[in-house]
Amino acid sequence: MEYEAVIGLETHVQLKTKSKMWCGCANEFGAPPNTNVCPVCLGLPGVLPVANEEGLRLTVLTGYLLNCSIPSFAKFDRKNYFYPDAPKNYQITQYDKPSTAHGFVDFEFAGGMSRVRITRAHLEEDVGKNFHFARNSGVDFNRAGVPLLEIVSEPDLTSSDMAYTYLNALKDILIYGGISDCDMEKGMVRCDVNVSVRPVGQKELGAKIEIKNMNSFSGVRRALDYEIPRQIAVVKAGGKLSQETRRWDDVGGITELMRSKEQAHDYRYFPEPDLMPFEPTAAWLEEVSRRVVELPLARKQRFMTAYGLPAPDAETFVNDVPLADYFEQVTATAKNPKAVANWVINNLRAKLTETGTPLAEVKIKPADLPDLVALVDGGKISSKIAQDVFAEMFATGEAPAAIVEKKGLAQVSDTGAIEKLCDEVIAANPKSAEDFRAGKGAALNFLKGQVMKLSKGKANPGLVGEILERKLQS
Ligand code: ADP
Ligand code: MG
Ligand code: ZN
Repeated sequence: MEYEAVIGLETHVQLKTKSKMWCGCANEFGAPPNTNVCPVCLGLPGVLPVANEEGLRLTVLTGYLLNCSIPSFAKFDRKNYFYPDAPKNYQITQYDKPSTAHGFVDFEFAGGMSRVRITRAHLEEDVGKNFHFARNSGVDFNRAGVPLLEIVSEPDLTSSDMAYTYLNALKDILIYGGISDCDMEKGMVRCDVNVSVRPVGQKELGAKIEIKNMNSFSGVRRALDYEIPRQIAVVKAGGKLSQETRRWDDVGGITELMRSKEQAHDYRYFPEPDLMPFEPTAAWLEEVSRRVVELPLARKQRFMTAYGLPAPDAETFVNDVPLADYFEQVTATAKNPKAVANWVINNLRAKLTETGTPLAEVKIKPADLPDLVALVDGGKISSKIAQDVFAEMFATGEAPAAIVEKKGLAQVSDTGAIEKLCDEVIAANPKSAEDFRAGKGAALNFLKGQVMKLSKGKANPGLVGEILERKLQS
């Protein structure tokens, strides 16, 4: 019997707010331990949480970006548990009335399009961080109370690669939307992986096994590459899987049992009595919806259709938004956007890196790159000369036509002048001329190269080829 994997992901993302979710402490990574704390996020008795409005806005904005509906009534709940890094002994979260629900993420996978449905994206708060030293342990509460969004997917993923691709697509969306910087190194994105297996064709899901607290997407992929075959081997050997929580050992490359269903927590959820339900008005929602941006996939498709770019070029622009914005600005007047894209991606980007120039300080004026392309396309300069003109444009900000004029770089298309050069080259290279007449095509390229050299790269290469051939054949 063949088995297939079923995967659902719970992705936790820190929201990009200035302050924490229920107090005014800074939401900031890397501050000295316990310096961004106050009675509220330390869970001292008698304090009251006050919701950070930007946290609410980013939650709803995420809902829009993930095609979710936004219920008109949402509320907060207490999830109770005792753990040293959770100073209140409960986490404020959204249990049965989340702020967003029923969405989806479309992404490119395995040469086609895939869709993963989003169950919900609800707002909660991060906990502190435990540190274990040689003789003692410590807790840093700087992270406690940082707004955290939990994005729960339906079990629509079927392989480790698909899970990995989905996570990257989700991350790109969140970065584009300004929801989170998604810096994995700083723990801004963490993931619980739920995975089961079932015989191909069976409708019911197998026993759900949850791998907790993954902090890298490649770790998720590796954990699934271990866990899926493990589960299949168990059922193929006649064993039975039951619901459990496992931990990923990144060094050992294995998952190991943390707790079985019997040991599962009972969180005793109840409505948070210190916070009002969240009932956004139409005007408030409208304001948030104005922050919706074009998503990476839509941008890629638009760059391919509107500018005729091949997929890799469009992807380059998707991954570099400032460069893409620059391209769109300069290409507004271009007849040949594809060629302009080549200049931006290949030449401009290299120059920026080489000279350490920020994009904002580029001297080339918006219409100048299309003009340079037009000079090449119109046969005014060769593409080789265009490289020199580009270097000059980058260095001085001068217009390409002015540079061509000043330096006398215009391509020579005067047949008389080219004929003379060809005669000279043929006379100086009788052996190659002989070779060509004897049928060695490569000899023509050599002669052509000599003519170009003699013209200092300015002769129209097409004309040179034609004239040489005619002269050699006559
Ligand atoms: P819990 O309440 O224990 O967190 P949920 O039913 O809410 O469980 O599901 C949590 C995550 O697990 C979701 O992403 C969901 O898609 C996924 N999931 C649920 N059942 C299965 C299953 N049998 N196999 C794989 N993933 C599952
Ligand atoms: Mg869970
Ligand atoms: Zn605080």
